[in-house]
Amino acid sequence: MPHVVVAGAGIIGLATAAELLPRGWAVTVCDPAPASGASHAAAGMLAPAAEMVWGQNALYPLMIASGRMYPDFLARLGHADGDAADLGHVRNGTLVVGADAADRAALADLTAIQRAAGLPVETATTRQLRRLEPALSPAISGGVLLPEDHHVDPRRLTAALLRHLEAHPRAELIRRGVSALTGTTTDAGRATDGVVLSDGRRLAADQVVLATGLAARELADLPLRPIHGDILRLKLPASNHPLITRTVRALVNGRPVYAVPRGDGIVLGASSREDSGAGVRTESVHELLDSAHRILPGVLDSTLEEATARARPGTPDDVPLIGRRDPGLVVSTGYSRHGILLAPLGARLTADLVAGSPPPSTGHDDAAGPSLLPLTAEANVAALLAAVAPDRFPATVTARSTP
Ligand SMILES: Cc1cc2nc3c(=O)[nH]c(=O)nc-3n(C[C@H](O)[C@H](O)[C@H](O)COP(=O)(O)OP(=O)(O)OC[C@H]3O[C@@H](n4cnc5c(N)ncnc54)[C@H](O)[C@@H]3O)c2cc1C
Repeated sequence: MPHVVVAGAGIIGLATAAELLPRGWAVTVCDPAPASGASHAAAGMLAPAAEMVWGQNALYPLMIASGRMYPDFLARLGHADGDAADLGHVRNGTLVVGADAADRAALADLTAIQRAAGLPVETATTRQLRRLEPALSPAISGGVLLPEDHHVDPRRLTAALLRHLEAHPRAELIRRGVSALTGTTTDAGRATDGVVLSDGRRLAADQVVLATGLAARELADLPLRPIHGDILRLKLPASNHPLITRTVRALVNGRPVYAVPRGDGIVLGASSREDSGAGVRTESVHELLDSAHRILPGVLDSTLEEATARARPGTPDDVPLIGRRDPGLVVSTGYSRHGILLAPLGARLTADLVAGSPPPSTGHDDAAGPSLLPLTAEANVAALLAAVAPDRFPATVTARSTP
């Protein structure tokens, strides 16, 4: 039976493991603190339209394809877990509003790219928006409804993926870090053949998947940088709950902010900092609350339950790094701001690279549902893989070897 070691149990490593198990692989996932990295902080917006940014054309098809894979991704997990309804997947669209006329004009520019990408966008007046979400301030300056942008609870999702892994007879979770990749280097090049764990143990593998988020920078010299994000979790009193029923995003004097309804409160995010501070930055907390208050005055009637900061694994162009580095090593990282959204597609592409070629898409494994995450008909796999190729940058990427 082929054996794969997946280094990293964030959303990407876990989703990849879940995609490899139905293909008959024995899967060992190694992580000293599963699901505690960027995936722990994430708001869980699945927002191909709202996340579009000028000049990031290579990202659009990835985001659209992965967003459309989400229902199958969650349904398969639900088959195995019996708990799909409880993953916080809500599909009632996203509102994007401008605080003032200049903010609304900036949003109108984005609407043009969203429409050009074939995504539905419905322009709405302040009155129409307030009919959908009465907690919105009457002072906002209009906006749009993006019906295809949805959200999920990333913490429930990673917990379900971990349960799936721990219950599977061919899966193993080792709560240890990977300190190095092992392999041989010959005239033909390098071939990874396993990993060394932080306790010195060596694990041999037919294939290794490097999904350690930002830490892949050290393990395989990948061009990654930390983009810190601060995010708040607010609890609302029963008298003010639910404050909103769908995700509300806004531009406030050019500054983005979002509020995602979750449980008895909201998730309010997120800053984007490239400084060296890994802890929660007070200035970010102030800015988030200030912006949110302009859009949703009721946010101040809440309890601050949690302030979290994590580093997003950023790449030079914000597009992930997914590709084969040598005959034994596939990397899957650099998901930056979009790792929750891109998880189904990233898992599918990574598993295809590990397995060599996709097996037939109709088989079933155990009682776990369809064996492969179906790609949407319009997805062009070759083009998607070219967009995420880790060697698309001038600097070469070389795996660090262990003697
Ligand atoms: C504030 C914030 C909000 C966000 N909101 C969204 C959102 O709404 N929607 C969206 O799509 N994305 C969002 N993101 C981005 C998303 O969280 C990331 O892109 C995604 O979590 C990356 O997943 P990952 O598995 O690659 O990395 P991580 O989640 O960071 O996981 C990496 C894992 O590797 C482990 N690890 C590290 N070193 C080693 C080692 N040596 N050996 C073994 N394991 C190791 C870590 O313990 C960790 O569990 C947000 C990010 C932040 C910070």
